[in-house]
Amino acid sequence: MKISILGSGSGGNSTYIESEKGKILVDAGFSCKKIEERLNFIERELNDINGILITHEHIDHIQGAGIISRKYNIPIYITPESFKAGESKLGKINPENLRFIKDKFIINDSLLVKPFDVMHDAQRTVGYRIESQSGKVIAISTDIGYVNNIVRENFKAADVMIIESNYDYNMLMNCNYPWDLKARVKGRNGHLSNNEAAKFIKEMYNENLKKVYLAHISKDSNNPDIVKDTIAQELRANKINLDYELAKQDVATKLFEI
Ligand SMILES: [Zn+2]
Ligand SMILES: [Zn+2]
Repeated sequence: MKISILGSGSGGNSTYIESEKGKILVDAGFSCKKIEERLNFIERELNDINGILITHEHIDHIQGAGIISRKYNIPIYITPESFKAGESKLGKINPENLRFIKDKFIINDSLLVKPFDVMHDAQRTVGYRIESQSGKVIAISTDIGYVNNIVRENFKAADVMIIESNYDYNMLMNCNYPWDLKARVKGRNGHLSNNEAAKFIKEMYNENLKKVYLAHISKDSNNPDIVKDTIAQELRANKINLDYELAKQDVATKLFEI
């Protein structure tokens, strides 16, 4: 399995994952052109994509999904609730390319995908546990206000974790957001802080885990150095040696193979 975070943050989110036979995007929150460019950067192309999995209907996750589906004839996998809430942003989707998800499904005889519900302030939000035929697992949740047991269960024994590290608590409290937005971000239906992400990584650490990506890092209430420090400190304190990388808004991460 190979993975690249094509970009992550409030300006757009998209992740590329491939196995031997299946190639997918999780979210398509950039323009079609930008996603083409980011894929070119890792020497891949939209022509080869077998499906777009949507986590929820916020614009930073679905902006390009409808256009890409129409232009490249790619199926969209989405919950009925997210589709209903995001239908006007997605535009007309060929009924054959609209796949409503409920439980586990398989893409191209190759990737076993399990959606799971997470807490966030969309109509409905899911994370995904994605397993290859050889049993490698990638777990992803980029917009999540609170880690509950369903989330823990689905991140169990993952080889790669992609988890949100949205804000630093003090920076959020001191930034110029209006109070209700601050409350929204830090609430259980908002986003995950650096400290919460660090604790979750420590909790989920297992000998399979090869890499963690920190995603959806806020530009207003966080900065990369604080993210690195917070994660490094938690790992050091628990004597955990683990490779981690910060996903960026403007550039794709290099393909990583597990
Ligand atoms: Zn969101
Ligand atoms: Zn988002």
